[in-house]
Amino acid sequence: MSTSLIWADSGVPRVIPIDRGAGAIIIGRSPDSVIQFADDSVSRHHALLRIGANGDSLDNLSKSNPARVNERPIDQPARLSDGDLLTFGKVTVAYHNLSQAARISGPRCAHCGRENATPRKDCWFCGTSLVNAGSADRTRVPIAFRAARVPGKPWVDVAPGEMLAIRDGNLLVEPEAMPKAGSWTVSTGDGHLRLNAGDEPPELLLNEEMAREGPITAGDQLTVDADRVVLLTRE
Ligand SMILES: [Zn+2]
Repeated sequence: MSTSLIWADSGVPRVIPIDRGAGAIIIGRSPDSVIQFADDSVSRHHALLRIGANGDSLDNLSKSNPARVNERPIDQPARLSDGDLLTFGKVTVAYHNLSQAARISGPRCAHCGRENATPRKDCWFCGTSLVNAGSADRTRVPIAFRAARVPGKPWVDVAPGEMLAIRDGNLLVEPEAMPKAGSWTVSTGDGHLRLNAGDEPPELLLNEEMAREGPITAGDQLTVDADRVVLLTRE
C-alpha cells in the first residue's frame, strides 16, 4: 500500500488504499464514485485521481466548487506530491505516496560513533552536542513505515532498525532496542507491534482491541491513550 489517502471521520484517521493499477479513480459523492464521500459539500463527481507510472495527478470535475490541492483551486491537472492536502468541498484528505519516501538520517556522533535516527541537537545515545557534526555524516534511508494522524497533522517516517515512540502526544522516532528508562514506546520497526512499557504503561489499542504485542499491517490503527495514529507501509 505505497499510495493511500487519509481522511478524518469524526476526528478518527481512516486510510483509503489506492490500487496502483487502477488508472483513473473518480472521487465524489455519487455512489458510482470509486472513492465516495457522503457529504453534501462534495460534488457528485468532484475529481479524477490519475495513477501513473511516472506520478499521480488530480483533475477537477466540479463546475461549482473546484477541487483544491494545498488550498489552491485547480483548473488543470495538478501533479501530486507526497503529503499534499486534497480538498473536495468540506472534505480534506492527505495524499501519501511512500514509493519514493526516504529520510535523511541525523548525523553520526563524533564522540560515540553512533548514527542518530533523526536530526537533533544532542546525540540520543551519549548526549554529546551534534551542532558541529559534519553534514556529510548523514545518509538517505528508505523508510519502513509511516505513522500518520488526521490530514494536516504531522506524521513521522520510521526506518528499519528504529521504533516509533508516542510521548506526551508527540510522534517520535528513536533507535530500536534502547527504550529510555521510565517511559514507554511502541516498537514496530520489524513489522511487529510491541509495547515497551515504562512506569505507567498507556492503554494501547490495535484496531480497537487491547494489545501489547502482535503483527501489524498497512492501514492498522493504533490508539495510544485515546491518541489515534494510522500506519502506512511501502508494500
Ligand atoms: Zn554519541
